[in-house]
Amino acid sequence: MGKSNTDPRKAWLAEAKFVSWWLTFDDFAWPHPELTRKWKERAAAFQQGGANAVVMFGFHFRFDYTGYFDRVFGVLREISLICRDHGLRVVEHHSPTLVHRARGEADRRDIRERNFHHVPFYPDSWENQFFNGQPMADWRQISARDNQPVFFERYTCECFCPNHPGFQQACLDYAGRHLEAVPVDAWMSDDLHYLPDVYSCACRHCRDRFRDEEGLDLPPGTDRNFWENTENPDYLRWIAARYRWNTDHYRRLRAFLPEEIALWGCASDVLAGRLTGMGFAPQHYAAHWDAVFHEIYHLHQPGTHDADIASDLAGFASVARHYDKPLIALFYAKSTGDVPRWLETTAFHRARPWLSSQPRDPEAVREEALLANGYAYDEEAANRPVENSVELTFSVEDRDRLGAAADDAYVTPFRQRCHELVKQGKIPHIRFTDLE
Ligand SMILES: [Zn+2]
Repeated sequence: MGKSNTDPRKAWLAEAKFVSWWLTFDDFAWPHPELTRKWKERAAAFQQGGANAVVMFGFHFRFDYTGYFDRVFGVLREISLICRDHGLRVVEHHSPTLVHRARGEADRRDIRERNFHHVPFYPDSWENQFFNGQPMADWRQISARDNQPVFFERYTCECFCPNHPGFQQACLDYAGRHLEAVPVDAWMSDDLHYLPDVYSCACRHCRDRFRDEEGLDLPPGTDRNFWENTENPDYLRWIAARYRWNTDHYRRLRAFLPEEIALWGCASDVLAGRLTGMGFAPQHYAAHWDAVFHEIYHLHQPGTHDADIASDLAGFASVARHYDKPLIALFYAKSTGDVPRWLETTAFHRARPWLSSQPRDPEAVREEALLANGYAYDEEAANRPVENSVELTFSVEDRDRLGAAADDAYVTPFRQRCHELVKQGKIPHIRFTDLE
């Protein structure tokens, strides 16, 4: 078991009722009296609606703003001060790893269509991208398939490597600059994963670390005896190493951040087969988090994705119990009428609720309207001891060994078992084999 979070300066987490504060391109007009007016109005609406914490959403791919940090800080500082005046805790959220890159106009259109829910304000090229005098292009993950920087089509982005010492230092330097400029209560660092697949990252630093820790040279991407060969124990050591390396990002951040600033990351899944390829293991990251966080996927809605919702929440709630830390669950409500059901679902799993509008729909009901009937979270239900739990074992090793077959052969039936228990009013308590 991990250490319980006993710092009184972070006790607010146990009573937090979060709401998303979506930033937009318009906010870059700061400083502007009209923005100040709107921000005050919004903070007042959130306070009146019963929220007591906001999460800054929007300036997501943070190192895309390298030339504009003072403007980013100016916007966030003013909003933070307004929020504090309204009794709202402030959570900083961004991704240090992802950066949009447009290879042409088609990519710009893709970003506009698929990623406009955040503020995709990206530079033209790597040519002028430096941080503390270092070329940021060097931080990129490299694929063992072709020894070229990876490109993740789904987000039209590239991704930095958590093992690059320049990137590691930049994350801490950035946090130092940000915290000096902007008062925040929590820090949410997102997207610690390898993209787009298990062949990342084969940069010099990952190769060196694999040799140092495992005594193995990473073979060429064409070596079928190694790559995707789950019978090969060396390959399984590669899979395990990537989980550790992403976890280390949070270890470094936790050691760096002032103790009173809570830390967590973003995670939408703790079970799925695709996590193997991404080297993504929130059950390990949580050792360095002050709260376990789960983002319920925005398309998952009660009544249509119940098995996914129940199993994901059960998974993250189990990790939270393992470490004796609070659980936070973000849901994307479609309408004011959906809010009570979401609050009931999160309370059932003893999660602190975080309400957000549907980010990708410009016509979506905004948070102010979603809170129109108040933030009626059942604290009594949420604080009830877990007595009706049923223990299930989830073998991360089995999932990883199954590779592409993992979802059909293992994860989906497991999700169904969780769902059946939840339908009976029971709490599935999941034992992750790699947490023992
Ligand atoms: Zn690397």
